[in-house]
Amino acid sequence: MIGAIKRIISVSGKYKGRICAAFIFAFLKSVLQNASLILTVLMVDQFFQGTIAGGSFLKYGLGLLGCVLAQALFIHLADRLQSASGFMLMADMRVKLGEHLRRLPMGYFTSGNIGKISSVLSTDMVFIEENSMQSLADAMNYFFSAAIFTIFMLFFNPTLGIVTLVFSIIMIIVGEIKYHKGLALSKDRQEQSESLTKAVLDYVEGIGITKTYNLLGEKSKEMSDNFEKSFKESIRFEGKMIPYGVVINILFELGAVALGFVASILYLNGSINITAFLGVALFMLNIFIPLRVVYMESEKFTIMDKCLDRIESVMAQPELVDAGSHKISQVKEGVPAVEFKNVRFAYDSKETISDVSFSVMNGDTVALVGPSGSGKSTLANLMARFWDIDSGEILINGTSIKDVPLKNLLEQISMVFQNVYLFKDTVYNNIIMGRPDATREEVIEAAKKARCYDFIMSLPDGFDTMVGEGGASLSGGEKQRISIARCILKDSPIVILDEATASIDADNEAAIQQAISELCKGKTLIIIAHRLKTIKDSDCILVVNNGKIVERGNHDELMQNGGIYKNFVDIKNSDSGWCKRKIG
Ligand code: ADP
Repeated sequence: MIGAIKRIISVSGKYKGRICAAFIFAFLKSVLQNASLILTVLMVDQFFQGTIAGGSFLKYGLGLLGCVLAQALFIHLADRLQSASGFMLMADMRVKLGEHLRRLPMGYFTSGNIGKISSVLSTDMVFIEENSMQSLADAMNYFFSAAIFTIFMLFFNPTLGIVTLVFSIIMIIVGEIKYHKGLALSKDRQEQSESLTKAVLDYVEGIGITKTYNLLGEKSKEMSDNFEKSFKESIRFEGKMIPYGVVINILFELGAVALGFVASILYLNGSINITAFLGVALFMLNIFIPLRVVYMESEKFTIMDKCLDRIESVMAQPELVDAGSHKISQVKEGVPAVEFKNVRFAYDSKETISDVSFSVMNGDTVALVGPSGSGKSTLANLMARFWDIDSGEILINGTSIKDVPLKNLLEQISMVFQNVYLFKDTVYNNIIMGRPDATREEVIEAAKKARCYDFIMSLPDGFDTMVGEGGASLSGGEKQRISIARCILKDSPIVILDEATASIDADNEAAIQQAISELCKGKTLIIIAHRLKTIKDSDCILVVNNGKIVERGNHDELMQNGGIYKNFVDIKNSDSGWCKRKIG
């Protein structure tokens, strides 16, 4: 268990000194706590032997008073130092974890790790925050007390000291076995808790779909199965730990009985006097209490250890390398604004993007078209380094995106996604995050350009209305326009647009098209296009199929070729859209 204590101290970073100081005060407190008991025994001993004088009484009295006062001071200092440490430690850790999550590749978030991240940020960190410092201080206090009692007994009477030592060692051995057994068993329990968090998140996030398809029964069964499993796992864990707790309790009782028994024999054969005997009788239960308490509560350390394991496993995920020191240069004559050179990429083992090369000149519009799942969004995401490519190169204004800091790269790109996410904040703050140093006038101007000013002004608190979870309910098209206002404010030279108007009503679609036109004025545009008009007007059309560019050119050229693109246009004209079956 000392290992767990050391581990918590080792992650305490800049609070290590503070925590160690708290332990020193906790140690002094236990010394004084036990010193007052020892002083009392010595005083009673002298009293019975009739060797105590009035002056000695006063000395003992003052000594006891000193112990009590100093104890109060040390308790205060220890509590003060340790109480806030857990919260400060976890506050720092959360910021560190937040920074780390920000630098992880997107792949980490999309491959089933959301439950884990939620558990780490909520359950694990809250557990450590609320328990670590108090449990640590208690454990140290109990260990110190056990050591002080044992040393005192060894000096007081070696025979009684040896009995104390032997029982203490046996209790420590059983306690350590219990702790390590707990560690091994808690792995399953923690995994189940992670899976429960994931099930709850899934259920809450998908509640709309669940209701629509009348799956409430099935989905809540999935969740209640998880609750059931968690319940069973906890019972199994406790069931396996109980026997160790029983043995520790028996050892505690046996140790006290053994001390009383040995003290009686020593008293009867005259080795100790009546005071010593009474002293032992009075304290024989207290002597083993610290070890009993510390090991009965060792599950807390087991859980803390596992919580730290999970925090560390998230922290150990490799970050996207952000070591670039160049800056993306200004637009140069004849140098493409965006260039893909022989790019290859796989999410896992199967290659998703195969040897893709294309370039877009500054101010041009490129439309990526192709069947669903062909790799269009992946190409767009690779440009923003949501994932790193496996080979080849992506350049912006002639500079490789790996050679520039991520911040500089992301300043160059605005993305309008199909799924808009607004933060639980005011409309104003949702827009200004596009450029945090913008003025209020600039935010309003961007909102006007994005055709959202009028509906924002009709909200209860205008720009200061809260949106997102629990806030004003906005339609999909309104949310989309707010996200476009954010991009207009950002004013980056490259805009990536997942043209997502399919599911939006006609009124909103017209407003969004106007907003998009404002956003795209004078920009280099990469559009994942679905609308025939956007595609036709593009400077270049790239037809993507199975991760490869299979056709390229403008509308007229591609129509003349009579390939996949022409097939697509014919289908579009007959209003049935892309269909894998027809172009496969
Ligand atoms: P498109 O935008 O053309 O519809 P995508 O780029 O979204 O296609 O997807 C290309 C392929 O990559 C698909 O087979 C899709 O299932 C797969 N894919 C997309 N995102 C991920 C991801 N995060 N992890 C693993 N595979 C993915």
